[in-house]
Amino acid sequence: MASSEELRRTLRRIDGKGYRAYRDICGRYDFREYSLSVDHVQGDPFAAPSRVSVRLGIEESGFRRELVSSRIRRIALSDFLTRAFQKAIDAVVRGRRGTGHSGLFQIDVGAQEVLESNSVVLESTALEARLTVGLPASGRRVLGRQAEDMLFMELPQIVRRSLFHRSLPAEELETHVKIVEDQASLRSQLQANGLLAFVANGSLLPRKSGVDDRPLTAKPNDLVVPFQSPPDLEIELHRPNLGPLRGMGIRPGVTLIVGGGFHGKSTLLRALERGIYDHIPGDGREAVVTIESAVKVRAEDGRYIEKVDLSPFIDGLPLGKSTTSFSTDNASGSTSQAANILEALEMGAQLLLIDEDTSATNFIIRDSRMQSLVAKAREPITPFIDKVQQLAQEQQTSSILVMGGSGDYFDVADTVIMMDEYQPFNVTSKVRKIVEAQPSQRALEGGTGFGQIPRRVPLKESFDPSPGRREVRIDSKKLDHILFGTISIDLSALEQLVNPSQTRAVGEAIHYYSVYCMGKGLSLREGLQRLMEDLEKGGLDVLSRSKVGNLAKPRLFEIAFAINRMRSLRVSNSRPLSGSTTHS
Ligand code: ADP
Ligand code: MG
Repeated sequence: MASSEELRRTLRRIDGKGYRAYRDICGRYDFREYSLSVDHVQGDPFAAPSRVSVRLGIEESGFRRELVSSRIRRIALSDFLTRAFQKAIDAVVRGRRGTGHSGLFQIDVGAQEVLESNSVVLESTALEARLTVGLPASGRRVLGRQAEDMLFMELPQIVRRSLFHRSLPAEELETHVKIVEDQASLRSQLQANGLLAFVANGSLLPRKSGVDDRPLTAKPNDLVVPFQSPPDLEIELHRPNLGPLRGMGIRPGVTLIVGGGFHGKSTLLRALERGIYDHIPGDGREAVVTIESAVKVRAEDGRYIEKVDLSPFIDGLPLGKSTTSFSTDNASGSTSQAANILEALEMGAQLLLIDEDTSATNFIIRDSRMQSLVAKAREPITPFIDKVQQLAQEQQTSSILVMGGSGDYFDVADTVIMMDEYQPFNVTSKVRKIVEAQPSQRALEGGTGFGQIPRRVPLKESFDPSPGRREVRIDSKKLDHILFGTISIDLSALEQLVNPSQTRAVGEAIHYYSVYCMGKGLSLREGLQRLMEDLEKGGLDVLSRSKVGNLAKPRLFEIAFAINRMRSLRVSNSRPLSGSTTHS
C-alpha cells in the first residue's frame, strides 16, 4: 500500500495535464484511519464517475460485535451507514467544480426499503464503503488541486462523520437495526402462525403521492387514518426487540378487499406488495409483512411471451392456435395477465396479489348474461374467478384481490375485508348471507382441476450480452429498464421491483445465470435457485464483473420475470411435467 503523500504528489504532478493522466492514481493509499482505494478511473469528465472505496477495520470503527453478529443486522447496519455517508456528503461536499461530474461524490443510498446492498460491505473484520467520485477537470484538463481538496479535505471528513461509531447518533442506529430485525422476524413467523401477511395496528399505509413513496403526512384538513385490525381478524405476534404487537392477519385461501372507490383498497394492497421488504423506521410500514413468495400480477398488453402453457386460463383460440405452448410478440390484456400468473406459479409463488385497477376485465370475470350470449365453446378465456379456488386448494397458492366491481367473487371468497373510510371491516359473514339470499346465476367454467404449471428450460442462445463482437454490455439507467447487449427489457409491469440498484443487479444476474447456472435440462427455476444460493454465499459481488457499490438484492421472481420479458428468450421444446394435476 502506498502512502497518502504519494497520492498527493501524483495529483500535483498531473495537474493541468490531459484527463487520461488521472489513470496514474489507481491503487491503494494509506490514510491512517482508513485506506483509500481508487478502483476505476473514468475516461473523461462526462463519463460515469470514478469508483473509489474506503476500508477500515470493524475494531477501529468502534461498532460493537452484536451489531454485526447476524446477517439481518449486517444488512441493517450497512443500510444505516450508507444513509449516514450520504448525509455527510450533503453536509461536507462543496459540489460541482469544473466540467461534467467534476467535484461530485455519490454513494448508492436506498429509499424506503432496507435492501441487502453492496454500497457498504461489512465483512467479519473490515468495513468497506464504495462510492463514486467525479474527478475534477477544467475542460478536459486535470484539476489536480481540486482533486486534492476532494480526497484530502472532504473525503476524510465524510468518513469521520459516517463510518465511526463515535460520531453517529447511537440511539438512532440501535433503533434502525432493531426495527429491521423485528420486521424480518415478523415475516419469518408468518407461516408458522398460519398467515400470509400481517398488518400491525397503527401502521400508516398511504404514500405522499403516486411518485413519492414516503409516508403521507396529515395536513390541516386531511387526516391520515392509522390502520386498525377488525377485532375478529386480529392476532398477536412477537418481536424480538420491541415486544408483542397486534394487527390484522391474512390467512391462506382467497381474500377479497372490497369497498367504495377511494376508500383505501389499493393502498392496502400496495402495502402488502411491499411487505416482502423491510422498511426504515418512520416509514409507516415497519410492521407490515408479507411472505417472501408473494407476487403482484397485472395485465400487461404488448408483452412478449415465450412458450408458456396458458391452457389453465386460455384454450381453444380461433384458428386452432395452441395455448399449451403459447408464444407471442404482442400479448393482449388477458393473455398477458394469464402468462404473468402462470410464470409466477412456475417460480413458486404462494400468494398472488391482484388489483382490479390493473387487471383485464375479461380475465377477471365473465358474468351470467355474457355466459348466456357467448357459449363457453366460443370463449377461449376461463376467467380467474373459476380458477382461484382450484389454485388455492390444489396448488396451495392463495390470492388477495382488490375487487370493488364484481360481487360474483363473493362465491369464491374465504375472507372479505371491506375498506370503509380507510378502516378495514371483516364482512365475511355478511357476504355469506348475501350469497344465500341472492345466489349467483353464473355457470362454473373452471373444469375439474387447475391444470399444468409450466416448467421451462431456457436455451443459452437467448442471452447474448454483447452489442457487437465480444464485450459484455449490460446497462440500466432507470428502475424499469435494462439494456442487455442489444436487447431492451421493459420491466415497468414489475411492481415489486423497487430500487434501480435492484434493476442493475437483475441485469448482471441474467448474465451470471446464463454463464454459470444453465445446465443440461435445468429449468429456469432450478437455475435461478442455484444463482440465489451463490448470492447467499458470496454476496452481491459475485454478480459484478468489476468492483461496484451500486447493486441491491432482487428476488428470484424479479430476475425470472425479467428473463421472461426478453424478446430473445427461447426455451426448449420438450416440456418437463410439473407433476401437478392434469387439465380437464
Ligand atoms: P381505492 O383503491 O379504494 O379506490 P386508494 O387506495 O387508491 O382507494 O386510496 C384513495 C386515496 O386515499 C389515495 O390518495 C390514498 O393515498 C388515500 N388514503 C388511503 N389510505 C389512507 C389512510 N389510511 N389515510 C388517509 N388517506 C388514505
Ligand atoms: Mg383502487
